[in-house]
Amino acid sequence: MRSPADTRHILDTLEAQHPDADTELHYTNAFELLVATMLSAQSTDARVNLVTPAFFKRYPGAPALAKATPRALEPQIHSTGFFRAKSKALIGMAKALVERHEGEVPASMEALVELPGVGRKTANVVLGHALGVPGLPVDRHVLRVANRIGIASSDKPEVVEAQLGAALPKERWTQASDTLILHGRRICKPRPLCDRCAVQDECHFYQSGALSPERAPRKPRATRRIRAPRR
Ligand code: SF4
Repeated sequence: MRSPADTRHILDTLEAQHPDADTELHYTNAFELLVATMLSAQSTDARVNLVTPAFFKRYPGAPALAKATPRALEPQIHSTGFFRAKSKALIGMAKALVERHEGEVPASMEALVELPGVGRKTANVVLGHALGVPGLPVDRHVLRVANRIGIASSDKPEVVEAQLGAALPKERWTQASDTLILHGRRICKPRPLCDRCAVQDECHFYQSGALSPERAPRKPRATRRIRAPRR
């Protein structure tokens, strides 16, 4: 695995390639981002952004959402997928905010992951973007990109979070995660566009030649031996 200094250098380069990296979910406060992030599971940010304006108008905070019924909520979030499970989680989350936190979103990982339907990734998104607390969300893009480059080495999100977190200062965590996510969406896709990648020279995956022949690094051609004609 790369050294912390290498990791910081690689993130410098990627951040220069993606200066606009940020969450693509639309929100104006921590409650809205928490709801949007929960809705984004198994969906896309663009799809979530289509349903949240009407949702936030109807449920502007935890007290209003805590009083909702699944029957009222499900049609509104239907298009984001898994609407029954998400309705249940959203109402449970809002009730817990009202009962335990006076309707406010707590600014700590320990309290956030105690809320129904909230895992470390969601908690890190909200902490880092809306609450000013360093958070390093690890989604499937971060997992793929970090492992390919060699700045992390695990298929477990919490391990990759710890590895990247140890190599980067806390104030860089959220931007680093946003950058790796965007790199994974735009360039280091499941079939990566290495020709457009700013860290090609430092990427373990690329340098290993594990890519398809046309995308793998060029190797020098072997010299062809020409046999002498038989006499
Ligand atoms: S060189 Fe290719 S595999 Fe490596 S990070 Fe860039 S796009 Fe991904």
